[in-house]
Amino acid sequence: MHTLCVFCGSSLGQDPQYAASSAAFGREIARRDIRMVYGGSDAGLMGITARSVLESGGSVTGIITRELYAATEHLDVSELVIRDTMHQRKHTMHECSDGFAALPGGIGTLEELLESFTWSQLGIHSKPVALLNAGGFFDPLLKLLDHLTVQGFLSPRQRSSLIVSRDPGRLLDKMLEASGS
Ligand code: AMP
Repeated sequence: MHTLCVFCGSSLGQDPQYAASSAAFGREIARRDIRMVYGGSDAGLMGITARSVLESGGSVTGIITRELYAATEHLDVSELVIRDTMHQRKHTMHECSDGFAALPGGIGTLEELLESFTWSQLGIHSKPVALLNAGGFFDPLLKLLDHLTVQGFLSPRQRSSLIVSRDPGRLLDKMLEASGS
């Protein structure tokens, strides 16, 4: 896994653990010499994670739409890719990443995570999909996924393919193991 796509909040959230965990995740990404791909903004946990990778000597690719680029604050990332539409932007993020990890966030984060997880279910890719469960943030989602499985809407195999850890380094190691690198 050379390139990891990170989905995370454009806000900081209520619990300071989310920012601390995002910064730690950024450090662990850089330590493993993995390039981070993300939405390109400096907002919230997105900015915290990307800045942490850069400050730890790692590389970051921001992929953003022209409109969002004009409307938001952004970092001096290693590489910036500008796309016309959100769909083109997501397609590029998927194409150039070897795995996907979600950190705490809102509906944007959830939508991106669930799309990656759905595409893995459909066999469109076989890249690892993971959740950094900082402070148990994703426990309600994991409970819902268990409910979908019990009710016969999500296969146990697909459910168990979702990689989860509260620990940033452990999450990355599990992803590396799953991707065979
Ligand atoms: P949310 O979780 O609703 O804050 O949305 C965060 C996710 O949506 C990120 O992973 C980004 O890919 C995308 N996103 C939301 N806001 C922005 C923004 N201002 N600039 C770039 N991407 C954004």
